Amino acid sequence: MPDGERAFPELVLITAAGSSSRFGGDKKEFMSAGGLSVLERAVRAFLDVGAGNGTVAPAGLVITATPGREAGARAALSTSTVAALEALAPCGFAVVPGGADRRDSVRFGLEELARRACAAGLDPAECIVHVHDGARPWVTPALVRACAAAARAHGACVPVTPLVDTPKELGPDGFVRSHPGRGGFGGAQTPQTFLLGPLRAAHRRAHEEDWACTDDASVWDRYIGPVAWIEGERENRKVTYREDLMRDPIDSMRVGEGWDIHRLAEGRRLVIGGVVIPFDRGELGHSDGDVLWHAVIDALLGAASLGDIGTHFPPSDQRWKDADSSELARRAMGLVRDSGWDIVNLDTTVTLERPRLGPHREAVCAALAAVLGVDRARISLKAKTKEGMDSVGSGDAVEARAVVLLVRSSRRS
Ligand code: MG
Repeated sequence: MPDGERAFPELVLITAAGSSSRFGGDKKEFMSAGGLSVLERAVRAFLDVGAGNGTVAPAGLVITATPGREAGARAALSTSTVAALEALAPCGFAVVPGGADRRDSVRFGLEELARRACAAGLDPAECIVHVHDGARPWVTPALVRACAAAARAHGACVPVTPLVDTPKELGPDGFVRSHPGRGGFGGAQTPQTFLLGPLRAAHRRAHEEDWACTDDASVWDRYIGPVAWIEGERENRKVTYREDLMRDPIDSMRVGEGWDIHRLAEGRRLVIGGVVIPFDRGELGHSDGDVLWHAVIDALLGAASLGDIGTHFPPSDQRWKDADSSELARRAMGLVRDSGWDIVNLDTTVTLERPRLGPHREAVCAALAAVLGVDRARISLKAKTKEGMDSVGSGDAVEARAVVLLVRSSRRS
């Protein structure tokens, strides 16, 4: 471990005391991002810093929560994460109520961290504090380490990304006042990382003067001195609107597979994807026995974690006797859409000795696309034979497989 890291224990302040007003009322930090709460993922990045070789875990972590919602903040963390936080030494873990605005919340959090550092015999002037938005779940341990290194060298560090949109200075009269251009400007991210002692002193002065700050870097700049900048990470976005969570790469795609086999018998119709194919035999089954639709329905329900075809359309239910499987598929797709998913593409294979399916491929794909409500170009059907082997090869059965990829839809409320 480099000497520099021993000399500067790292503390973490996670801010989660905002109103989430642009998020539509719910606390955005408590929402799920890829199966974990936004807050949990923001916290984990700092714990993971300590998981690498030659790096150290934080000495302590404090979360500021909306007053009265401290228990909610704790509940948004898994028990294993709370246990890891409470094991942080020597400063431990606390959730403290925030203040009337972000500046007050950060000040309260810094006071709590400094109190814990002093109680543990640490000098706040020699501790580093990362101040991080609880609504930035995609921060990486690499960025945390880079911020710590710059703060050790310069006292204060802010990660920035290049501006995408050209900024304009807006006049209250409805006209643009100036055109500063993008050159030389960057957007500030968190963590913003500082020496704890001076930052706490700067926040006390900002409070005394009631100076309205935009962020902690501006407080440091006004009362202490220049802030170093390093390159931020594009993925380290702040969750501001509901759509921001839908773009989570971990929670945006699901794959599903389905398989089915039906006996072929005389006196039954051969139905493939709702298309009746002229033949002297057809599928045996409780419903119309449409083997392709059954495989597709299982793939769809599987991808969305909604059970399987038997869960929703049990053979014991007389409603589904001789049912049109296209109708079952329409209902299954409705369940999938209601869960917030849309189809990216569907790839299927039907294995059948006779008759040849090639001439019916277009009709089957068009039927699947129409029922599922997606472009024909997203649907594929391949036809195979078993070359005389097993029950399918002998012409006694027909088999189908389906693989579907789902994407998080914008329809989710
Ligand atoms: Mg079936």
